Amino acid sequence: MAACHVVFFPFTAYGHLIPMADMAVLFASRGLQTTIITTPFNVHRFSKSIQKTTTFPHQIALHIIEGYENSDQIRSDESISNESISNFRESISMLQEPVEQFIQEYRPNCLIADMFYPWTTKMAAKFDVPRIVFHGSGFFPLCASESIRLYEPHKRVSSDSEPFIIPHLPHEIKLTRKQLPDLEAEIFKGFVEVIIESMKADETSYGVIFNSFNELEPEYVRHYREVMKRKAWHIGPVSLCNKNTDDKLERGKKAAIKEDECLRWLDLKPPNSVVYLSFGTLAEATTSQLHEIAMGLEACNENFIWVIKNEREGWMPEGFEARMKVNGKGLIITGWAPQTLILDHESVGVFVTHCGWNSVLEGISSGVAMVTWPVMAEQFYNAKLVTDILQIGVSIGDTEWSATASCDGVKREAVEKVVAKVMSAEEGEEMRKRARVLKEKAKMAVEDGGSSYLDLNDFIEDIKAFKSK
Ligand code: UDP
Repeated sequence: MAACHVVFFPFTAYGHLIPMADMAVLFASRGLQTTIITTPFNVHRFSKSIQKTTTFPHQIALHIIEGYENSDQIRSDESISNESISNFRESISMLQEPVEQFIQEYRPNCLIADMFYPWTTKMAAKFDVPRIVFHGSGFFPLCASESIRLYEPHKRVSSDSEPFIIPHLPHEIKLTRKQLPDLEAEIFKGFVEVIIESMKADETSYGVIFNSFNELEPEYVRHYREVMKRKAWHIGPVSLCNKNTDDKLERGKKAAIKEDECLRWLDLKPPNSVVYLSFGTLAEATTSQLHEIAMGLEACNENFIWVIKNEREGWMPEGFEARMKVNGKGLIITGWAPQTLILDHESVGVFVTHCGWNSVLEGISSGVAMVTWPVMAEQFYNAKLVTDILQIGVSIGDTEWSATASCDGVKREAVEKVVAKVMSAEEGEEMRKRARVLKEKAKMAVEDGGSSYLDLNDFIEDIKAFKSK
């Protein structure tokens, strides 16, 4: 009998592509036949994952759509601009024909396609192939955003800074209008339709697959299934399939620091004494914000690893880098950092994060406390999960949703104060204790017999049964 064949069609942004590559590894490790559909620009981003599967019954196959180099308009290593957003819709629909050809020819057991390809549901159905949606985020953010879409509580407050409660959720969660995207803004032209279509795709698709685990957000797993009435499986944290240093080192891009330099620096620091700061792959601090962060970090006098996505001029306080080198307090990585390798080191105790879903899950999987600094996408919801529900982090303060993924406006005093709080022996340690409990639960979830392990079993059984219907 032919092996069950699962096809993955990831979106090009790293925050969507990295977990989908991990997911493909996970499926391949269960003996399934897996294929990733991608374009020439993105193919190198999977090469490491594929090497990992050489010992499995079926290696991950790649299906490269040739001749579509220009379709990768949103390249996650570039900044977000009006131009890139307006090209977005056109570029993703260009992939429609070649993906359809592939599905028609190979008739896999299922197609797991990113939320940004809503057209895949109907297309796959033509060939009797179930389409599964992957959002790249968790149950809580999807439940919260759906509640806002349905009940529009933000329209009943009188100002952008007046808090409103997100209705009908298991917890009382407050947000302000400033923390939501303004979908009528010029920059979203052509993009809003894709988002709306992708939300509909949740209802019309066969189901939704999550990089999450039940013990993290049990009320929202239930809410999503029972109140929102969507078929869903959780199979994460998928990053935990990267077990050795090599896998962690080259997950995504090639790291801008050598493994031994990074680990040697961390090895010299006491447990839980290092603050790790990163804003992920899209968000970026302005020059003045970089300056304020530097001043705040120096003032709180903690050890830190700080990832700065792109080389920038004119932000550094005079003598800052030299002082950090001499006293060994700070390590700046310009470019790509081996994030899970760093977070997993016992010296790291705090993660200052923009709250991308992957970063939140990776932080939880490493048992660190967090400083939440959301910038865009669903990050404001993710931040609430960390601070209000899980109580393993503290908010940096009142930041605003930014369409251009720009971090700005946080003063050095706020950085100093919040970092000190999360590093503290009292409050900080309490948060770390809770985070360590979640870390253990995350590990157990993906082990044989764990909640995510079993949900993946259910998923596989369901897909196989669909084929024989
Ligand atoms: N990442 C990394 N090194 C970096 C920046 C990002 O390994 O220097 C990884 C990170 O571990 C995570 C992903 O890229 O898996 C970023 O996804 P996330 O959802 O956190 O944020 P996004 O970049 O999508 O905003």
